[in-house]
Amino acid sequence: MQAVRLGIIGCGIAANDLHLPAILKLRDKFTVTCVCNRTEPKAKAFAAGLGVPYVLDPAELLARDDVDAVDIALPVELNLRTTAAALAAGKHVFVEKPIALDAAQASSMVALAAAHPDLACLVAENYRYKESFRRLKALMDSGSIGRPYMAQWTCLQKIDVDNKYVQTPWRRNHRYEGGFLTDGGVHNVAALRIMFGNLTCRGAVVRSVNPALGRTDSLQFMFDSESGVAGVFTECFSAAGASEGKLLILGSEGSLSCENDSITVRRPGRPDSVEAFPGDDGYVAEFEDFYRAVREGSVPLSDFSEGRKDLESILGALEAAAR
Ligand code: NAP
Repeated sequence: MQAVRLGIIGCGIAANDLHLPAILKLRDKFTVTCVCNRTEPKAKAFAAGLGVPYVLDPAELLARDDVDAVDIALPVELNLRTTAAALAAGKHVFVEKPIALDAAQASSMVALAAAHPDLACLVAENYRYKESFRRLKALMDSGSIGRPYMAQWTCLQKIDVDNKYVQTPWRRNHRYEGGFLTDGGVHNVAALRIMFGNLTCRGAVVRSVNPALGRTDSLQFMFDSESGVAGVFTECFSAAGASEGKLLILGSEGSLSCENDSITVRRPGRPDSVEAFPGDDGYVAEFEDFYRAVREGSVPLSDFSEGRKDLESILGALEAAAR
Protein backbone atom coordinates (compact mmCIF):
# COMPACT_ATOMS: atom_id res chain seq x y z
CA MET A 1 0.00 0.00 0.00
CA GLN A 2 1.04 3.56 -0.66
CA ALA A 3 2.77 5.57 2.07
CA VAL A 4 0.64 8.24 3.73
CA ARG A 5 1.87 11.73 2.83
CA LEU A 6 2.19 13.49 6.17
CA GLY A 7 2.34 17.17 7.07
CA ILE A 8 3.67 17.97 10.53
CA ILE A 9 2.25 21.03 12.33
CA GLY A 10 4.43 22.10 15.26
CA CYS A 11 8.17 21.44 15.20
CA GLY A 12 8.82 21.35 18.95
CA ILE A 13 9.90 18.69 21.42
CA ALA A 14 7.28 16.06 20.57
CA ALA A 15 7.79 16.39 16.82
CA ASN A 16 11.59 16.20 17.08
CA ASP A 17 12.16 13.76 19.92
CA LEU A 18 9.15 11.43 19.70
CA HIS A 19 7.40 11.57 16.34
CA LEU A 20 10.28 11.87 13.93
CA PRO A 21 12.20 8.81 15.22
CA ALA A 22 9.00 6.75 14.99
CA ILE A 23 8.12 8.01 11.50
CA LEU A 24 11.64 7.29 10.27
CA LYS A 25 11.22 3.68 11.37
CA LEU A 26 8.07 3.48 9.21
CA ARG A 27 9.37 4.81 5.90
CA ASP A 28 7.16 2.39 3.97
CA LYS A 29 4.08 3.81 5.72
CA PHE A 30 4.77 7.56 6.05
CA THR A 31 6.47 10.16 3.88
CA VAL A 32 6.72 13.63 5.38
CA THR A 33 5.95 16.09 2.57
CA CYS A 34 5.80 19.43 4.42
CA VAL A 35 6.26 20.83 7.92
CA CYS A 36 4.93 23.92 9.66
CA ASN A 37 5.95 25.99 12.66
CA ARG A 38 5.02 29.55 13.57
CA THR A 39 8.63 30.67 14.09
CA GLU A 40 10.93 30.19 11.15
CA PRO A 41 14.19 28.90 12.65
CA LYS A 42 12.50 25.79 14.09
CA ALA A 43 10.52 25.18 10.91
CA LYS A 44 13.62 25.60 8.78
CA ALA A 45 15.82 23.31 10.89
CA PHE A 46 13.19 20.58 11.07
CA ALA A 47 12.47 20.78 7.33
CA ALA A 48 16.18 20.76 6.47
CA GLY A 49 16.68 17.54 8.43
CA LEU A 50 14.01 15.90 6.33
CA GLY A 51 14.76 17.65 3.04
CA VAL A 52 11.17 18.89 2.71
CA PRO A 53 9.59 22.35 2.34
CA TYR A 54 8.30 24.30 5.33
CA VAL A 55 5.56 26.86 5.89
CA LEU A 56 4.78 29.13 8.84
CA ASP A 57 0.99 29.10 8.55
CA PRO A 58 -0.97 25.85 9.06
CA ALA A 59 -3.51 27.01 6.44
CA GLU A 60 -0.78 26.84 3.80
CA LEU A 61 0.11 23.28 4.77
CA LEU A 62 -3.56 22.26 4.78
CA ALA A 63 -4.06 23.68 1.28
CA ARG A 64 -1.39 21.39 -0.20
CA ASP A 65 -2.43 18.49 -2.44
CA ASP A 66 0.59 16.44 -1.39
CA VAL A 67 -0.60 16.19 2.25
CA ASP A 68 -3.03 13.34 3.05
CA ALA A 69 -2.79 13.54 6.83
CA VAL A 70 -1.49 15.87 9.52
CA ASP A 71 0.43 15.29 12.71
CA ILE A 72 -0.55 18.07 15.14
CA ALA A 73 2.06 18.63 17.86
CA LEU A 74 1.07 22.04 19.22
CA PRO A 75 0.15 23.49 22.61
CA VAL A 76 -3.02 21.75 23.81
CA GLU A 77 -5.20 24.86 23.47
CA LEU A 78 -4.67 24.75 19.68
CA ASN A 79 -5.80 21.16 19.17
CA LEU A 80 -9.49 21.89 18.52
CA ARG A 81 -8.96 24.79 16.13
CA THR A 82 -6.25 23.00 14.16
CA THR A 83 -8.12 19.68 14.03
CA ALA A 84 -11.28 21.43 12.77
CA ALA A 85 -9.31 23.17 10.02
CA ALA A 86 -7.51 19.94 9.04
CA LEU A 87 -10.72 17.90 8.79
CA ALA A 88 -12.43 20.70 6.83
CA ALA A 89 -9.49 20.51 4.41
CA GLY A 90 -10.02 16.74 4.02
CA LYS A 91 -6.93 15.64 5.97
CA HIS A 92 -6.71 12.70 8.36
CA VAL A 93 -5.69 13.80 11.88
CA PHE A 94 -3.11 12.47 14.33
CA VAL A 95 -3.17 14.88 17.27
CA GLU A 96 -1.10 14.87 20.44
CA LYS A 97 -2.61 14.27 23.89
CA PRO A 98 -4.37 15.57 25.93
CA ILE A 99 -7.14 15.72 23.31
CA ALA A 100 -8.13 19.29 24.20
CA LEU A 101 -8.03 22.16 26.64
CA ASP A 102 -11.10 21.09 28.62
CA ALA A 103 -14.08 18.71 28.61
CA ALA A 104 -16.23 20.96 26.41
CA GLN A 105 -13.54 21.16 23.74
CA ALA A 106 -12.96 17.41 24.03
CA SER A 107 -16.66 16.89 23.23
CA SER A 108 -16.28 19.18 20.21
CA MET A 109 -13.36 17.02 19.05
CA VAL A 110 -15.51 13.89 19.31
CA ALA A 111 -18.30 15.64 17.35
CA LEU A 112 -15.82 16.69 14.67
CA ALA A 113 -14.60 13.11 14.25
CA ALA A 114 -18.22 11.88 14.01
CA ALA A 115 -18.94 14.50 11.34
CA HIS A 116 -16.01 13.22 9.24
CA PRO A 117 -16.40 9.43 9.27
CA ASP A 118 -14.20 9.01 6.19
CA LEU A 119 -11.20 10.64 7.86
CA ALA A 120 -9.07 8.94 10.50
CA CYS A 121 -8.87 10.73 13.87
CA LEU A 122 -6.37 9.49 16.45
CA VAL A 123 -5.25 11.00 19.76
CA ALA A 124 -1.58 10.22 20.18
CA GLU A 125 -1.86 8.68 23.66
CA ASN A 126 1.22 6.51 23.50
CA TYR A 127 0.44 4.72 26.81
CA ARG A 128 -2.54 3.17 25.01
CA TYR A 129 -0.01 1.43 22.75
CA LYS A 130 2.51 0.29 25.37
CA GLU A 131 2.69 -3.50 25.48
CA SER A 132 3.31 -3.68 29.23
CA PHE A 133 -0.16 -2.39 30.20
CA ARG A 134 -1.88 -4.82 27.83
CA ARG A 135 0.24 -7.63 29.25
CA LEU A 136 -0.74 -6.66 32.80
CA LYS A 137 -4.40 -6.80 31.76
CA ALA A 138 -3.89 -10.20 30.10
CA LEU A 139 -2.18 -11.51 33.25
CA MET A 140 -5.10 -10.33 35.36
CA ASP A 141 -7.67 -11.71 32.91
CA SER A 142 -5.97 -15.11 32.95
CA GLY A 143 -6.24 -15.27 36.73
CA SER A 144 -2.48 -15.16 37.37
CA ILE A 145 -2.94 -13.30 40.69
CA GLY A 146 -6.43 -14.53 41.53
CA ARG A 147 -8.95 -11.70 41.92
CA PRO A 148 -7.30 -8.28 41.49
CA TYR A 149 -8.68 -5.82 44.04
CA MET A 150 -6.29 -2.94 44.66
CA ALA A 151 -3.68 -0.94 42.79
CA GLN A 152 -1.16 1.67 43.74
CA TRP A 153 0.74 3.70 41.16
CA THR A 154 3.40 6.04 42.47
CA CYS A 155 5.19 8.40 40.10
CA LEU A 156 7.68 10.66 41.84
CA GLN A 157 10.26 12.89 40.22
CA LYS A 158 11.80 16.29 40.70
CA ILE A 159 11.46 18.49 37.67
CA ASP A 160 13.69 21.55 37.75
CA VAL A 161 13.03 24.89 36.07
CA ASP A 162 15.66 24.20 33.41
CA ASN A 163 13.79 21.05 32.30
CA LYS A 164 12.96 21.34 28.58
CA TYR A 165 9.25 20.85 29.21
CA VAL A 166 9.15 23.56 31.88
CA GLN A 167 10.81 25.87 29.36
CA THR A 168 7.77 25.71 27.04
CA PRO A 169 5.71 28.84 27.87
CA TRP A 170 2.36 27.12 27.25
CA ARG A 171 3.12 24.61 30.01
CA ARG A 172 4.50 27.13 32.50
CA ASN A 173 1.57 29.52 31.99
CA HIS A 174 -0.91 26.77 31.35
CA ARG A 175 -4.43 27.64 30.18
CA TYR A 176 -5.64 24.11 30.88
CA GLU A 177 -6.60 22.84 34.33
CA GLY A 178 -3.89 20.92 36.13
CA GLY A 179 -0.85 21.95 34.07
CA PHE A 180 1.82 19.30 34.41
CA LEU A 181 -0.57 17.09 36.39
CA THR A 182 -2.92 16.90 33.40
CA ASP A 183 -0.15 16.79 30.83
CA GLY A 184 1.48 13.80 32.56
CA GLY A 185 -1.46 12.29 34.42
CA VAL A 186 -3.58 11.83 31.31
CA HIS A 187 -1.09 9.12 30.27
CA ASN A 188 -1.52 7.26 33.55
CA VAL A 189 -5.30 7.39 33.54
CA ALA A 190 -5.27 6.07 29.96
CA ALA A 191 -3.24 3.09 31.18
CA LEU A 192 -5.45 2.62 34.27
CA ARG A 193 -8.51 2.57 31.99
CA ILE A 194 -6.91 -0.09 29.76
CA MET A 195 -6.23 -2.27 32.77
CA PHE A 196 -9.29 -1.64 34.95
CA GLY A 197 -11.96 0.00 32.77
CA ASN A 198 -13.50 3.40 33.42
CA LEU A 199 -12.53 5.11 36.66
CA THR A 200 -14.72 6.71 39.30
CA CYS A 201 -13.03 9.32 41.46
CA ARG A 202 -13.36 8.62 45.21
CA GLY A 203 -11.37 11.65 46.30
CA ALA A 204 -8.28 13.60 45.41
CA VAL A 205 -5.90 16.18 46.80
CA VAL A 206 -3.43 18.49 45.07
CA ARG A 207 -0.52 20.51 46.36
CA SER A 208 1.75 23.11 44.86
CA VAL A 209 5.41 22.87 45.85
CA ASN A 210 7.17 24.68 43.01
CA PRO A 211 5.11 27.49 41.40
CA ALA A 212 7.53 27.49 38.44
CA LEU A 213 5.79 24.28 37.32
CA GLY A 214 2.35 25.90 37.17
CA ARG A 215 -0.50 26.19 39.63
CA THR A 216 -0.20 22.62 40.97
CA ASP A 217 2.46 19.93 40.77
CA SER A 218 1.42 17.14 43.16
CA LEU A 219 -1.67 14.93 43.09
CA GLN A 220 -3.11 12.00 44.97
CA PHE A 221 -6.14 10.48 43.28
CA MET A 222 -8.18 7.69 44.82
CA PHE A 223 -10.32 5.75 42.36
CA ASP A 224 -12.69 2.87 41.93
CA SER A 225 -13.01 1.15 38.59
CA GLU A 226 -15.42 -0.78 36.38
CA SER A 227 -13.51 -3.99 37.06
CA GLY A 228 -13.84 -3.53 40.83
CA VAL A 229 -10.16 -2.72 41.39
CA ALA A 230 -9.76 0.29 43.68
CA GLY A 231 -6.56 2.28 43.83
CA VAL A 232 -4.47 5.33 44.44
CA PHE A 233 -2.50 7.18 41.80
CA THR A 234 0.18 9.51 43.14
CA GLU A 235 1.94 11.96 40.85
CA CYS A 236 4.48 14.40 42.24
CA PHE A 237 6.71 16.51 40.02
CA SER A 238 8.55 18.28 42.84
CA ALA A 239 9.59 15.22 44.85
CA ALA A 240 12.94 16.32 46.22
CA GLY A 241 15.03 13.33 47.22
CA ALA A 242 12.64 10.80 45.69
CA SER A 243 12.44 9.15 42.31
CA GLU A 244 10.01 6.34 41.60
CA GLY A 245 7.71 5.01 38.93
CA LYS A 246 6.07 1.89 40.22
CA LEU A 247 2.69 0.29 39.68
CA LEU A 248 1.61 -2.44 42.08
CA ILE A 249 -1.54 -4.52 41.63
CA LEU A 250 -2.73 -6.76 44.45
CA GLY A 251 -4.75 -9.88 43.80
CA SER A 252 -6.21 -12.52 46.10
CA GLU A 253 -3.40 -14.96 45.16
CA GLY A 254 -0.47 -12.76 44.21
CA SER A 255 0.75 -9.41 42.99
CA LEU A 256 1.89 -7.78 39.80
CA SER A 257 4.38 -4.96 39.73
CA CYS A 258 5.48 -2.88 36.79
CA GLU A 259 8.59 -0.75 36.95
CA ASN A 260 11.21 0.31 34.39
CA ASP A 261 9.40 -1.46 31.53
CA SER A 262 9.46 -4.73 33.42
CA ILE A 263 6.64 -6.78 34.94
CA THR A 264 7.10 -9.07 37.95
CA VAL A 265 4.52 -11.65 39.00
CA ARG A 266 4.84 -12.71 42.65
CA ARG A 267 2.87 -15.63 44.12
CA PRO A 268 3.43 -17.24 47.51
CA GLY A 269 5.39 -20.50 47.29
CA ARG A 270 6.34 -20.00 43.63
CA PRO A 271 9.38 -18.35 42.04
CA ASP A 272 8.87 -14.78 40.82
CA SER A 273 8.48 -14.44 37.09
CA VAL A 274 9.82 -11.37 35.29
CA GLU A 275 9.03 -10.14 31.79
CA ALA A 276 10.87 -7.19 30.25
CA PHE A 277 9.52 -4.80 27.63
CA PRO A 278 12.59 -2.78 26.65
CA GLY A 279 11.89 0.46 24.79
CA ASP A 280 8.16 0.00 25.33
CA ASP A 281 7.12 3.59 24.58
CA GLY A 282 4.25 3.09 22.12
CA TYR A 283 5.30 5.78 19.63
CA VAL A 284 5.87 3.49 16.65
CA ALA A 285 2.72 1.51 17.43
CA GLU A 286 0.54 4.62 17.53
CA PHE A 287 1.73 5.65 14.05
CA GLU A 288 1.15 2.09 12.78
CA ASP A 289 -2.40 2.25 14.10
CA PHE A 290 -2.88 5.62 12.41
CA TYR A 291 -1.64 4.14 9.13
CA ARG A 292 -4.21 1.32 9.36
CA ALA A 293 -6.95 3.81 10.15
CA VAL A 294 -6.03 5.94 7.12
CA ARG A 295 -5.45 3.13 4.64
CA GLU A 296 -7.91 0.48 5.83
CA GLY A 297 -10.52 2.64 7.53
CA SER A 298 -10.13 0.80 10.86
CA VAL A 299 -11.14 2.53 14.09
CA PRO A 300 -7.94 3.48 15.91
CA LEU A 301 -7.38 2.13 19.40
CA SER A 302 -6.92 5.69 20.63
CA ASP A 303 -9.88 7.34 18.94
CA PHE A 304 -11.24 10.71 20.02
CA SER A 305 -13.84 9.24 22.37
CA GLU A 306 -11.10 7.40 24.30
CA GLY A 307 -9.07 10.62 24.39
CA ARG A 308 -12.08 12.46 25.80
CA LYS A 309 -12.58 9.82 28.54
CA ASP A 310 -8.90 10.04 29.49
CA LEU A 311 -9.13 13.81 29.82
CA GLU A 312 -12.43 13.63 31.75
CA SER A 313 -10.86 11.16 34.20
CA ILE A 314 -7.90 13.35 35.11
CA LEU A 315 -9.99 16.55 35.14
CA GLY A 316 -12.50 14.77 37.37
CA ALA A 317 -9.74 14.11 39.89
CA LEU A 318 -8.63 17.74 39.79
CA GLU A 319 -12.22 18.94 40.26
CA ALA A 320 -12.61 16.63 43.25
CA ALA A 321 -9.42 18.06 44.73
CA ALA A 322 -10.79 21.58 44.35
CA ARG A 323 -14.03 20.81 46.23
P1 NAP B 1 6.71 22.51 22.26
O1 NAP B 1 8.10 22.00 22.24
O2 NAP B 1 6.41 23.82 22.88
O3 NAP B 1 6.19 22.51 20.76
C1 NAP B 1 5.01 23.14 20.39
C2 NAP B 1 5.20 23.84 19.06
O4 NAP B 1 4.07 24.66 18.86
C3 NAP B 1 6.42 24.75 19.09
O5 NAP B 1 7.22 24.45 17.98
C4 NAP B 1 5.86 26.15 19.04
O6 NAP B 1 6.53 26.99 18.15
C5 NAP B 1 4.46 25.97 18.54
N1 NAP B 1 3.59 26.96 19.18
C6 NAP B 1 3.62 27.38 20.45
N2 NAP B 1 2.65 28.28 20.67
C7 NAP B 1 2.03 28.45 19.50
C8 NAP B 1 0.94 29.27 19.09
N3 NAP B 1 0.32 30.08 19.94
N4 NAP B 1 0.55 29.19 17.80
C9 NAP B 1 1.17 28.36 16.94
N5 NAP B 1 2.21 27.57 17.28
C10 NAP B 1 2.62 27.62 18.54
O7 NAP B 1 5.74 21.47 22.96
P2 NAP B 1 5.82 19.88 22.89
O8 NAP B 1 6.48 19.38 24.11
O9 NAP B 1 6.34 19.45 21.58
O10 NAP B 1 4.28 19.51 23.02
C11 NAP B 1 3.43 19.53 21.88
C12 NAP B 1 2.30 18.53 22.09
O11 NAP B 1 2.86 17.24 22.24
C13 NAP B 1 1.47 18.77 23.35
O12 NAP B 1 0.15 18.38 23.09
C14 NAP B 1 2.05 17.80 24.36
O13 NAP B 1 1.14 17.40 25.36
C15 NAP B 1 2.44 16.65 23.46
N6 NAP B 1 3.53 15.82 24.02
C16 NAP B 1 3.32 14.50 24.14
C17 NAP B 1 4.31 13.69 24.67
C18 NAP B 1 4.09 12.21 24.77
O14 NAP B 1 4.86 11.50 25.41
N7 NAP B 1 3.08 11.66 24.12
C19 NAP B 1 5.53 14.25 25.09
C20 NAP B 1 5.71 15.62 24.89
C21 NAP B 1 4.70 16.41 24.37
P3 NAP B 1 7.60 28.06 18.64
O15 NAP B 1 8.43 27.39 19.68
O16 NAP B 1 8.33 28.37 17.41
O17 NAP B 1 6.81 29.20 19.19
